[in-house]
Amino acid sequence: MVESQFKKYYAIPEWREKHLTYRKTKVPCPESKFVTSRANMTRHKRSRNHISRMKEIKESKVTILEEKLKKLKKKIKKQNQEDE
Ligand SMILES: [Zn+2]
Repeated sequence: MVESQFKKYYAIPEWREKHLTYRKTKVPCPESKFVTSRANMTRHKRSRNHISRMKEIKESKVTILEEKLKKLKKKIKKQNQEDE
């Protein structure tokens, strides 16, 4: 939205109220699931909290995949032995 337009809208009490309520609405971050207000979301995404959470999620996904891979390798090994 163009800033002058924004100011025009902001002069309308109902619109301003709606806008403020919207900004105050708490929503979970789509990535880290951290609940914060919409107004704070942009800042949250640059926060250490979000970044470290993202790193944790990534690492746990890697761990899960590594475990699956280990199990699969075991399975393949077992199957190969049975075939011999
Ligand atoms: Zn987040």
